[in-house]
Amino acid sequence: AHLDRIAAVEADVHAFLHVDADGALAEAAASDARRAAGAPLSSLDGVPIAVKDVLATAGLPTTCGSKILEGWVPPYDATVVRKLREAGLPILGKTNMDEFAMGSSTEHSAYGATHNPWDLDRIPGGSGGGSAAAVAAFEAPLAIGTDTGGSIRQPGAVTGTVGVKPTYGSVSRYGLVALANSLDQAGPVTRTVLDSALLHEVIGGHDELDSTSIDRPVGAYVEAARQGAAGDMTGVRIGVVTELGGEGYQPGVLARFQESVDLLVKAGAEVVEVSCPTFVHALATYYLILPAEASSNLAKFDAMRYGLRVLPEGIESPSAEDVMRATRDAGFGDEVKRRIILGTYALSSGYYDAYYGQAQKVRTLISRDFDAAFEKADVLVSPTAPTTAFKLGEKLDDPIAMYLNDLATIPANLAGVPGISVPSGLADEDGLPAGFQILAPALADERLYRVGAALE
Ligand code: GLN
Repeated sequence: AHLDRIAAVEADVHAFLHVDADGALAEAAASDARRAAGAPLSSLDGVPIAVKDVLATAGLPTTCGSKILEGWVPPYDATVVRKLREAGLPILGKTNMDEFAMGSSTEHSAYGATHNPWDLDRIPGGSGGGSAAAVAAFEAPLAIGTDTGGSIRQPGAVTGTVGVKPTYGSVSRYGLVALANSLDQAGPVTRTVLDSALLHEVIGGHDELDSTSIDRPVGAYVEAARQGAAGDMTGVRIGVVTELGGEGYQPGVLARFQESVDLLVKAGAEVVEVSCPTFVHALATYYLILPAEASSNLAKFDAMRYGLRVLPEGIESPSAEDVMRATRDAGFGDEVKRRIILGTYALSSGYYDAYYGQAQKVRTLISRDFDAAFEKADVLVSPTAPTTAFKLGEKLDDPIAMYLNDLATIPANLAGVPGISVPSGLADEDGLPAGFQILAPALADERLYRVGAALE
């Protein structure tokens, strides 16, 4: 049924870069056979899933939305993908994304933009717009995204889906092509909070292949979601973050946000106002740390190891450096080049202390603001994104306007704390979905599910 749905709507939505119909059908048949034989089944056995094209999939192309990886088929699975396969989830295919996960609209994909199923002239968010659009358009019941600065939560908000960025280190990054190692985290993209909890339990857990993986058992996310769905929020302190709202936010988004807060209060929660003054510097901090890490990570695309190799024209016996230059020039898009330049600049000697070093200090202050806020509240809440989905092309020539979309989602990545975006309803101005963000302390991901499920 999902493959039929993909065939029917993909020409309009373009959520996928690669569909693996044969592989998905074979896995589905294997799951049916297990069921028929009475063999043990996982909680999501046989439920198809779409995977963002930034995760390595053995035997399936993995491009990261970039020309430089065109034709690359990884010889191994990312740990998240291996866990999906072991739990019997058929992989429908790989979803579209901004090139190397840099962007908030999926327009920076080298393979063309994804369209928002709610209005095909609008962006589905980014960088994981493909995963969110696939779920919103009923092409897949579940998807995997990755969130470095909001790429699971912001697409969730603008497509009316649920997206979870787990605690940093709680889901393995092995086989996730790194954008920024200290910020990246894979997580669920679904239509309900309970679905996210089920999927999170499948993909979470310690992995020796990821040196930043936390050695702790997987949390009881499903139980927390079930508890939250029962609707009693008595004793839960909800912290509304002063700095993540107000000016610059669309009125309809703020109205739906307030409505969700009111619903939690009606369910017994207590609301407290919390201030995190350093959050106003989060965007600037992120746009030093992320390009610095990204510029280093992207150095491996040198025309020798993976995918594309372009021979420079007009040079008779090109050197390795000539080939590298021609390949990187042809293979990387403008946004990737912009960030490589930003990152190498921030890391260059003489500027390191002023930019990268300074950003690391501010990052610590942001973590401390979180610590202080979580003394006063069990969870922090805000609108996920300042606006509903904007029009395709609207912000493409204005990188700062594009970056501003992630104002509310970036602090969580800098501090490593978990966050969820749940639909809060449709904005009055345009009838488009808005998102409600819930943040919890590191390793308290259960709280996201408890509070998120209470809003469904
Ligand atoms: N939109 C943000 C960026 O462009 C976030 C990206 C992400 O989370 N992968 O960096």
